[in-house]
Amino acid sequence: MRIAIFSNKGEASRKVADALNKLITKSPSLLLDGLNPDIVISVGGDGTLLSAFHHYIDRLEDIRFVGIHTGHLGFYTDWRDYEVNELVKSLEHDDGQSVSYPLLDVQVAYQDDEITDTILALNESTIKRPTNTMQADIYIKGEFFESFRGDGLCISTPTGSTAYNKSVGGAIINPQFDAIQVTEIASINNRVFRTIGSPLILPADEWIRIVPEAGDTDVLTCDQLTVSDRPIKSISYRISQQRISFAQYRHTQFWKRVSGSFIGQGNHD
Ligand code: NAP
Repeated sequence: MRIAIFSNKGEASRKVADALNKLITKSPSLLLDGLNPDIVISVGGDGTLLSAFHHYIDRLEDIRFVGIHTGHLGFYTDWRDYEVNELVKSLEHDDGQSVSYPLLDVQVAYQDDEITDTILALNESTIKRPTNTMQADIYIKGEFFESFRGDGLCISTPTGSTAYNKSVGGAIINPQFDAIQVTEIASINNRVFRTIGSPLILPADEWIRIVPEAGDTDVLTCDQLTVSDRPIKSISYRISQQRISFAQYRHTQFWKRVSGSFIGQGNHD
């Protein structure tokens, strides 16, 4: 089985990557291959896994990810830095086990271009206006829903619901659901302007289209990347046909991960 190691540049991560490198080189059944891997091991944090995802985005159908966290346990990272030996043993006994999660499909049409860009996000995409008020009309499944005014909007996946979405008041969604969530970022609500004011959760057969007011310069992001600050004609968001797969050698219950990350190891275990 071919393995790629994708590490961040921190000292702790580099040490883990070196140790992994040595163990994999010695293993009779594993081979290091950064170009055509079957498994990508991300070493760092959830942010590193996001970078690994975008690095291997063209090979999602062929690869499974494994995350080693060099800090606390993360949402995409099941292994800790001191478990490298155990992880390599699991890789040697791999029988193709995997779990997959939904991704966000982002289709952007620009005001100055006929070509529509298609981008995938693992956590979320945001559209924001850094200065002045962002103004946009919102359509759900082709029907006008509302006129939005405020700082911006965040559209997230279930696995991304614990990231930026949570900070802007979105719900945490168990990634077993195929859904996307739309969360407002500082909407204006007064006697003149009105938005729904609460997060919306859309099922797999619905999509949302955002049409910014002509002339606005909004910033579009996908995960850690700034995609564009070109004038946008419209953006459509829906659940992608593609998914991200993880090699699941162990199972951490989702809500235990949530409480461990945000509440801490309490008195209840
Ligand atoms: P970053 O520094 O790489 O990440 C910011 C924090 O978000 C880190 O603590 C990271 O965890 C955590 N994180 C990433 N994905 C997560 C997930 N699915 N669930 C829970 N926590 C998660 O920031 P960046 O490179 O600018 O952007 C990467 C991601 O960070 C974005 O996709 C966005 O969701 C998130 N972010 C959040 C805020 C906010 O909450 N206000 C602001 C900016 C970005 P690790 O320490 O394990 O890497």
